[in-house]
Amino acid sequence: MSAQLSPSPAPIHIGHYISGRHQAGKGSTVPSYNPASGEVIGAVALADAHEVDVAVQSALTAFPAWSQTPPLKRARVMFRFKELIERDMDKLAAAITREHGKVMSDAKGELVRGLEVVEYACGIPELLKGDYTEQIANGIDAWTMRQALGVCAGITPFNFPAMVPMWMFPMAIACGNTFVLKPSERDPSTALLLAALLTEAGLPDGVFNVVQGDKGAVDALLDHKDIRAISFVGSTPIAEYIYARGTSNGKRVQALGGAKNHMIVMPDADMDKTVDALMGAGYGAAGERCMAISVAVAVGETTANTLVEKLAPKVRALRIGDGMDETIEMGPVVTSQHRDKITGYIDDGEAAGAELVVDGRGHRVAGCEQGFFLGGTLFDHVTSSMRIYKEEIFGPVLCVVRVPDFASALTLVDQHEYGNGTAIFTRDGHVAREFAHRVQVGMIGINVPIPVPMAFHSFGGWKKSLMGDHHAHGPEAVRFYTRQKAVTQRWLADKEIVGAEFAMPTH
Ligand code: NAD
Repeated sequence: MSAQLSPSPAPIHIGHYISGRHQAGKGSTVPSYNPASGEVIGAVALADAHEVDVAVQSALTAFPAWSQTPPLKRARVMFRFKELIERDMDKLAAAITREHGKVMSDAKGELVRGLEVVEYACGIPELLKGDYTEQIANGIDAWTMRQALGVCAGITPFNFPAMVPMWMFPMAIACGNTFVLKPSERDPSTALLLAALLTEAGLPDGVFNVVQGDKGAVDALLDHKDIRAISFVGSTPIAEYIYARGTSNGKRVQALGGAKNHMIVMPDADMDKTVDALMGAGYGAAGERCMAISVAVAVGETTANTLVEKLAPKVRALRIGDGMDETIEMGPVVTSQHRDKITGYIDDGEAAGAELVVDGRGHRVAGCEQGFFLGGTLFDHVTSSMRIYKEEIFGPVLCVVRVPDFASALTLVDQHEYGNGTAIFTRDGHVAREFAHRVQVGMIGINVPIPVPMAFHSFGGWKKSLMGDHHAHGPEAVRFYTRQKAVTQRWLADKEIVGAEFAMPTH
């Protein structure tokens, strides 16, 4: 007789956060899942254009007072928000793991990386300081100032439900804007927890709002006349769509897209350290990171043979299971559809003639039989014409490409349509320097596998990995979320007369 399973708790309704309050959605819903158990845990509201408008109106109403609030007072809200995130770190990380599947230590890691942007935003009085020039002409001074745009929106992907929104809203709000966030419908809860913490931190109602939804909500944001700027992070086809529609509606848009990140392994690299780095960068978060390494470019046959020989047993030994278990190294992927898509890529790579060294298809985890699991997968002898090389798989699949020399490795990276991140592992400083100098990619690691810039630098790729002129967070966020004014002033003395000047002023 089979054991009696306890009934699963009923899915909870996941609604919006508007004007400082949770609000149930009125329209249709989609299910959200716990990827480790495969159970439906939520019914996520899908905002329609009217509900999006309610959120935008709330942000619009809050804007005049918030933008006039002195930057120091805005910074104080950020300081309190930082403390509250630290207080609730475990609760937030558990919410991320429950909906996304990544292991708890990784969920805490993404919260810390998001928190660093909040810490950077605490310096907003300093960051907003403009330039001043005294005496640009006789008795005339000039200065620049940066002012908030108005209502800004963020549209974010499933893979970092805390960190990616926190690349956006802390800086947007600190700069004096108000904000509407549309998180991924696949892991929608973290945004609501962060919204409630902002209210607790003293943020006035309406400054930060969350609307749940899918394409309908996104289109309503893209077309809304009162939204001034849109920050998007997600896959490249959607990034291109957001950029085209948002800019044609006159909005400022930054749209960060997909990736295919290569790590070049030079013959002189320390192989054990390189293999450890590749394990974390390739299989951490089940490969669902925009900075994951999905291609290892081995320079020389001996390098490739050693690399694959050392990697294969480690990939087979990955501890896979529910991310809530602290001994686990790799959790499930986000949905069963995504698992099936990745499985399709593995089928395709095999059919195209790549050598499938470790096959993660059909991986089962005892006690989590309905979970969306895949084992770590390793391909060797992958070529640049194969789909598994050209397209972003976004799963625990690492491809080894063999090249004869450094020049071929560099050409390979440069010819790929994506240019988010890349890394080189070597002991040769000259080669590393040449790589960083020449490569056509936005973020480079030298013996660092996932070179995500810190909050006080900016994050962004090149080529099809970013559309728009500004990278995320850091100094570029101040530029993206503000616009500059230049003031020129002259105060004539009471009786001083200059007369009409008809020529272009030249002094
Ligand atoms: P996605 O493009 O499917 O979804 C991103 C957002 O767009 C979600 O909020 C979603 O609701 C919305 N969306 C989806 N389809 C839409 C449509 N047809 N019209 C309008 N909006 C739509 O991305 P995802 O699967 O959630 O996330 C994974 C992708 O994000 C990967 O490609 C990954 O590389 C990328 N990513 C990039 C970065 C970066 O910094 N470049 C960071 C994280 C993730």
